[in-house]
Amino acid sequence: MTAAVSLQKVSRHFGPIKAMDEVDLDIAPGEFFAMLGPSGSGKTTCLRVIAGFEQPTSGHIEIFGETAEGVPPYRRNVNTVFQDYALFPHLNVLDNVAYSLMLRKVGREERNRQAEAALELVKLAGYGERRPGQLSGGQRQRVALARAIVNRPKVLLLDEPLGALDLKLRESMQEELKSLQKTLGITFIFVTHDQGEALSMADRVAVFSEGRVRQVGKPEEIYGKPNSRFVADFVGSSNVLPPEFVERVSGQRKWASLRPESIHLNGEGILSGTVISRSYLGSTTRLGIDLNGTRLHAVVPSDDRVPAEGAHVAIDFPQSALHLMEDEA
Ligand code: ATP
Repeated sequence: MTAAVSLQKVSRHFGPIKAMDEVDLDIAPGEFFAMLGPSGSGKTTCLRVIAGFEQPTSGHIEIFGETAEGVPPYRRNVNTVFQDYALFPHLNVLDNVAYSLMLRKVGREERNRQAEAALELVKLAGYGERRPGQLSGGQRQRVALARAIVNRPKVLLLDEPLGALDLKLRESMQEELKSLQKTLGITFIFVTHDQGEALSMADRVAVFSEGRVRQVGKPEEIYGKPNSRFVADFVGSSNVLPPEFVERVSGQRKWASLRPESIHLNGEGILSGTVISRSYLGSTTRLGIDLNGTRLHAVVPSDDRVPAEGAHVAIDFPQSALHLMEDEA
């Protein structure tokens, strides 16, 4: 199947800075794809290169099988939703949404009809007459979305689309974005530094670090089978265990990750340790445990068996929960 977006060894350098360093990515049509990574890891640059705002230093890009080389942004069948929404303050909502249609010389009646349909999709029917300044943050975000989907691009690029919203609104917009993407069947590629957001929304996630893609996979692969210490550390709250420790419990001298929720206390514990910290998280409690100098975190149900700080505990975990990592770094 032809990829919606295909990057082959794409690099973008700014002087000595390798903002993108030989990035390979294949994003499928209709996929909800997240680019996740810390600040400065190259996510936005990657998005801008796909959009055509930035030219790669080297490498090759295809959009639905056609080379993007020399194709300007407005002819790429790709639209972008920017974090700051970039709405025109002096135009009302309807004209903001219809703007790209106006540039394409679509007649007023037809463009208003299409803009109203787009507003309906983002649940803002009836808001066409307002100015952006008369809307809440969440509503402005929807206008930006309506404007980006009005000409039915094949690919929608979203740069931290929910970054400016408060937590509650963020969560409800996450669900809406997902359902909007299903309705439209458009390929969504979104940038975020929030691992929870990437894992909960995306079909697949690419984890970036220092201009490189460190791992690409479904959320459960990225979370449960990180290929490197970097991914294990960055995505979620894994224990990253050094080779000396792993050798004792598995016979293999490799780095490994172990999710805190796969650790059981008491019972037939294979290792013994001391509880050094305890934080109540509601239905679960997070424990810091010292095992002869190796620190582990365990997440256990908050019941009356949770050990106190200073208590000696026997810990256990299924061998299958220990995920050996090939990549040292
Ligand atoms: P954030 O989450 O903070 O937006 P990011 O992962 O999106 O970060 P980029 O914005 O892609 O990261 O930046 C990657 C690297 O490239 C950074 O070191 C940044 O300073 C550098 N960079 C980006 N754009 C330019 C530019 N126009 N000129 C020089 N350096 C740049």
